[in-house]
Amino acid sequence: MRTAEKTRKPQLLKYFLSALLPVLLLCLFYFLTTKRDAINSVQEKFSLPALRFLGKTFSAIPVSILEIFIAAAVIAAIVYIFKFISALLSFRRAKTVTILRFLLILVIILAWIWNGYCWLWNAGYYADSFAEKAGLETVGISTDDLYNAAKFFCEQANALSYLVPRDDDGIFCGGFEYFAESYDTLYAPIDEEFPFLAGQTTMPKGVFFSKIMSYMGYTGLFFPFSGETYINTDQPAWDIPNTIAHEIAHQRGVHFEAEANFIGIAACIQSDELYYRYSGYMAGLIHLTNALYTADPERYWELRDSFSAHLEADWQDNNRYWQEKEGKLNEVADMVYDTFLQVNNQPSGLQSYGECVDLLVLWLNTSAYSPMEG
Ligand SMILES: [Zn+2]
Repeated sequence: MRTAEKTRKPQLLKYFLSALLPVLLLCLFYFLTTKRDAINSVQEKFSLPALRFLGKTFSAIPVSILEIFIAAAVIAAIVYIFKFISALLSFRRAKTVTILRFLLILVIILAWIWNGYCWLWNAGYYADSFAEKAGLETVGISTDDLYNAAKFFCEQANALSYLVPRDDDGIFCGGFEYFAESYDTLYAPIDEEFPFLAGQTTMPKGVFFSKIMSYMGYTGLFFPFSGETYINTDQPAWDIPNTIAHEIAHQRGVHFEAEANFIGIAACIQSDELYYRYSGYMAGLIHLTNALYTADPERYWELRDSFSAHLEADWQDNNRYWQEKEGKLNEVADMVYDTFLQVNNQPSGLQSYGECVDLLVLWLNTSAYSPMEG
């Protein structure tokens, strides 16, 4: 027993030293987050080029890297737990050494994964935001401006609701592959108005386990380790184009959810494709009317009563779909993502999604690209 402990001590030292580098890198990262210029440089000179490289590399592979990554992680975790238990049951090894060794390995793996997140992605949460770069910082909006924006979105969605394809039940229809075809031209107006966002867009990938994503409450996600965008293909079809646009915003380096929502909607409503425009107007309408419901319920109901039968059908279908998916998995996923956002410089967490209303109303009233002026 003593001999075994003696030979394992240098091994433990080796694990301690291996843990040192990722931990020091994390310390350096969090130190740099306190210096705006330094973290801006990290994002510009390292994170964005690395994400572009990863995106370009992995988009050439026609399978979902995210799902392979998750499957590999689950298998690795099972093997790890199995090895840990069998090592604990082995009488040839000291239990404290075994536990320490496995804990250190776990710390090393998690520290490297978190390093990947921090240096590739989280840096952007501390760098200059889209609103700062675009000069679209809001100081609040009036209820009249909110109502006018919501009314405009309602009128546009109503008009488009008669033009988009519908299934036998009268619900907006279309497949992910069809919507994804126009991904590369979608951001042309955005690149023109906000040239600092110009960059690479890769073909979005549909997720095989989209139903599980729905039960977790996710419509799409950007995976920094592959630099790609992934779309839930099971969600109501009207939201797929808007989700594609939202995830591209993340790929272009927009980190804050409210800002990605705004840019996604702005990209959609300027698209030449009817289904993108309808999707963008409907997504914007949900955000705007949610805010209006709190600010002025009477005018909210006035707008709700003016919905076309088609728009009302899509609205009800969307509510029905997401109500069916509510449950424990959704609550846990929300809690995990909310915590992730809060530890990454987004104190309002998931509620930050609602802040896109201010950006949208300000942009509609001030931008030369605003469709409301026309
Ligand atoms: Zn997002």
